[in-house]
Amino acid sequence: MVGPQDIHKLPEILGKIKNKSLLERKIWETDSKLRPEKIYHQQFYQDKQHAFIVISEGCSNFCSYCVVPYVRGGLRHRKPEDILNEIKTAISHGISKVTLLGQNVNAYREAGVNFAKLLEQVNSLAGLKEIGFFTSHPKDAGQDIFKAIRDLEKLAKTLHLPVQSGADRILKLMNRGYTAKDYLALVDSYRKIVKDGKLTTDVIVGFPTETQEEFEETCALFKKVKFNSAYIFKYSSRPGTEAAKICETLKPEEIEKRHKKILDLQRKISKDLRQ
Ligand code: SF4
Repeated sequence: MVGPQDIHKLPEILGKIKNKSLLERKIWETDSKLRPEKIYHQQFYQDKQHAFIVISEGCSNFCSYCVVPYVRGGLRHRKPEDILNEIKTAISHGISKVTLLGQNVNAYREAGVNFAKLLEQVNSLAGLKEIGFFTSHPKDAGQDIFKAIRDLEKLAKTLHLPVQSGADRILKLMNRGYTAKDYLALVDSYRKIVKDGKLTTDVIVGFPTETQEEFEETCALFKKVKFNSAYIFKYSSRPGTEAAKICETLKPEEIEKRHKKILDLQRKISKDLRQ
């Protein structure tokens, strides 16, 4: 077992087990706090034009259904200069498009540089043509990021803003840190600042104890916002999380029914927008 923070140990581990059966040796490497910077400078690009650039690792939000904070640890940021150097190297290898990655990129803050400022710095790199980022959290997204999307010419005019539910009681149980009203206000602000910007989302249907009325609130939010597209997930329990401790769960057939209903709704919205 090798944890995501320990992948730099793989060559050494493989060397040790080279001539042995895996069954002869137990490997347990999960104690590193941070990947060493060298792991990001391997200069191997699967896609010759596009590179994914990790700006932060882990997450400290503890949404009640999610294992990430337990398995990947708390939020840690890479230094801005390390991120810029990695992108410059990528550009020198022919990369023209980058996607900045983190569980919650909006919360980026390191050495006095916040996410909007980092976007500005990346945008100024010569040779780069397109920038995207993934993913955002509504509690940390704000006008400075929306203005960056509007003003930075290389930044894609799109925002992925996971809502997860349209019902306040469920959002609270999920520990998301915002209400449906907060979310709608954010969407309003985004649309005022980024004219014609695209908006996509994530949603979980069938969270434990979700009532039919609460599910309908999520559908109502979808109708109001009109996302360009959405990743629609059926709730599934993750052992060890807070949500997994809630005994009152929905029947799989009910989750299936709600999933189909909101999927059909979103398909229609997406089609209408495309037309
Ligand atoms: S859902 Fe996203 S923001 Fe919430 S704990 Fe998981 S990784 Fe963090």
